[in-house]
Amino acid sequence: MSEVQIGGMVPFTTIDFPGRLSAVLFLCGCPVRCKYCSNPHLLDIADGEYDPEKTFEWIRSRVGRLEAIVFSGGEALMQGDALIEYMRRVKELGFNICLHTNGFYPETLMRASDIVDWIGLDYKATCEKYPDLTGQNIAFDHMIKSLDAWVLTGRGLEVRTTCDPRFVTKSDLLEIARDCAGRGVKNFAVQKYIPHFEDAAHPETDAAAREQFFNDDALRAEIDAMFDTVTWRG
Ligand code: SF4
Repeated sequence: MSEVQIGGMVPFTTIDFPGRLSAVLFLCGCPVRCKYCSNPHLLDIADGEYDPEKTFEWIRSRVGRLEAIVFSGGEALMQGDALIEYMRRVKELGFNICLHTNGFYPETLMRASDIVDWIGLDYKATCEKYPDLTGQNIAFDHMIKSLDAWVLTGRGLEVRTTCDPRFVTKSDLLEIARDCAGRGVKNFAVQKYIPHFEDAAHPETDAAAREQFFNDDALRAEIDAMFDTVTWRG
């Protein structure tokens, strides 16, 4: 596949690259199958709905109006060199480049490290629970390789954990936070699980279960003390 495949777009946001006026492109394809995925229509590499060159011209029209372009997915790095070349062209227009990634492609991430200014990296669960959540035995090891390699670059990084009560307990969250702090992460985010339509079948994800991470003052204080910044994203 030689052209980048774009499956979705948000023309304006201030939350996907925190504090920056951005647009988000959602790239097609993902190598894992998280049980809580909110973008199932993007999981297969297929022809994107958005023409890459028309999208590029739209991005060019945003020069001076937006600060950054966010590449999300799916898993954008699955598109390898096509993505890297596209990001390079967007950066040459003067935009900051942000990448949301599950960390599955550490080598591709490092090849893009001179282009990408900031990443939001998913640390989804403890090592033991990763295969059940993602359907992939190697996803945790790849994510850790990406994390360790990116920390060494000194470039912008937020590690985020989405607290789906089926896969993350409060004790898991502390274990993840401690591991991140030990690896040199400075910015951590705890994300509230947003239920999907099929969740009526999962009463263990009810509102009280989702809130438990956010209304435990002792837990919050312990995690807050580990990092320069902690975002409690509810
Ligand atoms: S990594 Fe993201 S896009 Fe891929 S399956 Fe998981 S939630 Fe969905």
